[in-house]
Amino acid sequence: MSHKPFKIPKNPEEVMAWINSIPLYKADHPQDLSFKSQDEIRTVQETALVKQMERLGKFSPYYREKFKEWGLDYQSIKTLDDLEKAPLTSKADFMKDRGESFKLDMDFEHVMEYILYEITYTTGTTTGMPSRFYNTTYDMFMQSWIFRMCCKICYLEPDDIVMNLFPYHFIPHIGYYKTFHFASAVGMTMCWGFTGAPLPGFPYNIHRSMQEAIDQIERKKVNAISGIASYIRRLIMTAEEQGKDLSNINKLQALGEAVPKGMRDDIRRRLQGMGADDVYVCNAFGFTEAQTAFQECSELGGAHSGTPQVSYFEAVDENGKRKPDGEPGLLCITHLDRRGTCLLRYLVGDIVAVTNKPCPHCGRNDQRIVTAVGSTYGTRTKELMKVKGTLINPETMRDAVADTPGVVEYQFVVTKEKADDPYSMDMLKLRVGADKGADLASLEKVLKEKVKKAVELTPKVEFVPLSEIFDPGATLKVTRIVDERPQE
Ligand SMILES: [Zn+2]
Repeated sequence: MSHKPFKIPKNPEEVMAWINSIPLYKADHPQDLSFKSQDEIRTVQETALVKQMERLGKFSPYYREKFKEWGLDYQSIKTLDDLEKAPLTSKADFMKDRGESFKLDMDFEHVMEYILYEITYTTGTTTGMPSRFYNTTYDMFMQSWIFRMCCKICYLEPDDIVMNLFPYHFIPHIGYYKTFHFASAVGMTMCWGFTGAPLPGFPYNIHRSMQEAIDQIERKKVNAISGIASYIRRLIMTAEEQGKDLSNINKLQALGEAVPKGMRDDIRRRLQGMGADDVYVCNAFGFTEAQTAFQECSELGGAHSGTPQVSYFEAVDENGKRKPDGEPGLLCITHLDRRGTCLLRYLVGDIVAVTNKPCPHCGRNDQRIVTAVGSTYGTRTKELMKVKGTLINPETMRDAVADTPGVVEYQFVVTKEKADDPYSMDMLKLRVGADKGADLASLEKVLKEKVKKAVELTPKVEFVPLSEIFDPGATLKVTRIVDERPQE
């Protein structure tokens, strides 16, 4: 049995026709705020904001203190424009007590909303201990609505059979859990890759291999995959080499890292070589502090808020001043309707552009995070790096290489010209795993020119076996930039 054909809707009329063809979405539609007018959305957001400010003022140990310190009356924040009065919250602020003071105290008048339901973790702390992020019953129920609206944006539907390829890791990976919550919110059938790294010292081998995931995708006629982008691509490449039938695949949630256009086209080409028809490669933009991934209605068309009543985006400068529509700035997010961990003007750590303009592709009126650099949504602010005295944006460098035919895997290495001399000149190396039939001499020339054009530096190109850059058995995703210089 093969799936009903799926064609990616191309304009607001086709998007509405697709929504109306699915009873669940059609029934939900009157409550879908993203399609209401901008005035209606703003009214709902500001009503929610006033209540959320009251929750922070009464029940947030962190903000209760900060409002005093800042001399800010939380009740004076009544509109989205008033938000600019509040200082920004940084990742360092959040990590100071591992997020504990950002969890609201119990509101005894609304006990059922505040029951602790789930903890997820943010990774990458300085101490190695992850910070906790709390969801209460209210937050979980709201997430079910958020996920339903998200699936509706990226064309996932109740009849889909989705493979959860996120790893089952010893630190709970948000992607793994959110995938089963979004499948349940819509009623999709779910299969499990159940890969992951062993817990040191744990006596049983609980995880399964990529090969078992490939076999299940084929046998169970899976049509949608959710996972880390470079892992999904490697799985597809392996299946391709084995002559597997992945012709049912038509929707990919390729997450966890930026997926430039060249990588999407490459994945699609490989699947179509295995018999697939239209394939929608969706690179939703997610982070723990939002507890969701913001979905695209068209490839690279912008990451939709989807549920504007729940979170508000701003692109700001270092002082918290809001950037004009469409201009790049630091992404900050404000929760408008939460009970567990709550953040006000929180700096996520990415540079993005935010637009409030209606989406020309689907007709929604919610906020979108739009591409600001190259063909990816966010540039991690910490990734801006100095090489040979020049401040470069690795995103544009990555973009230049990822779109090059013949390149299968790649990795930039910033090192020193003389390994034993920390004061020698910086050197930019580009390690490339090439397609079997590629003409290496001309590929090297093309890559040097492209990188030079992108960041004004010419790399030294080295061709290496694919597994030297990315070994899916050992790591979750490819590290695209490695800085080997001695740290000061
Ligand atoms: Zn759209």
